Amino acid sequence: MNTLFKCLVYDKQVSLSVLDTTDLVNKAIKIHNLEGKSAELLGNLLTVCAYMSGCLKSQRGAVSITVKSKDGSGSASVSGDVDLHIRGYVDGSCKHTLKGGTLTVIKDDGFSRPFVGACEIGGDNVSRIMTDYFHQSEQIPTAVSVGVKLADDNTCLSAGGVVLQLLPGTSEENMARAEEAMGNFLHPAEAISTYGAEGIIRTFFAGEIEQKGLYLLHPDYICNCSRAKFEGIIATLGKEELLAICKEQGAVKVHCHYCNTDYTFFEEDILKLFDK
Ligand SMILES: [Zn+2]
Repeated sequence: MNTLFKCLVYDKQVSLSVLDTTDLVNKAIKIHNLEGKSAELLGNLLTVCAYMSGCLKSQRGAVSITVKSKDGSGSASVSGDVDLHIRGYVDGSCKHTLKGGTLTVIKDDGFSRPFVGACEIGGDNVSRIMTDYFHQSEQIPTAVSVGVKLADDNTCLSAGGVVLQLLPGTSEENMARAEEAMGNFLHPAEAISTYGAEGIIRTFFAGEIEQKGLYLLHPDYICNCSRAKFEGIIATLGKEELLAICKEQGAVKVHCHYCNTDYTFFEEDILKLFDK
């Protein structure tokens, strides 16, 4: 089961999150038939998205993270909501390589205007990309270490990560402790497979956490698409246009990139749609 543990450490000045997203990443690999680089890139982005979704404050909150390659030949996108339903896809050249480009993060709390942060990225190291992002765009010192460990057959053996975020007013001493602690997680997927998410907290942060201050959440790979949702989207094209497509192509076909599901609407479905 996927887990996200959250707690405060170092005199309650630093927020610690530890994630085990092995099952979630395996689901993504299966849905999108990922291998090697594409499994690592999407897996790491899904883990970061699970972390950021766990930080959402409003019931209607949502977050999306998109990376686009410099030449526009590929992209990867993930999104999540307050229920920690995480989904994503990777396409084009990003399936094989990402040598820099742009990162865009949209955080929507469901009330005010969404926060949009963007920055240039230098490579494909998601931990570095997100650490830079938090520093540049949100101006919150945050150390992100995420990883995916794959077997030869592209099954995910372990995935997850550790995130330490400094709260306002963190002392120099506790900053140094946080930095030193991150040195233990240069290979986060290895750490997850060795200790497990809870084991990481008990092993590396023993004595720093209050038992009752430990939150446990369960992210999962779940797409929020539905036939009804796509009905609403295609209806905006209008009855005539949809019937014309049916005549020409036999049916209106819509594809959800996030869960690789096809929705097919035949002429009778279109007529019913406008009959309501
Ligand atoms: Zn879907």
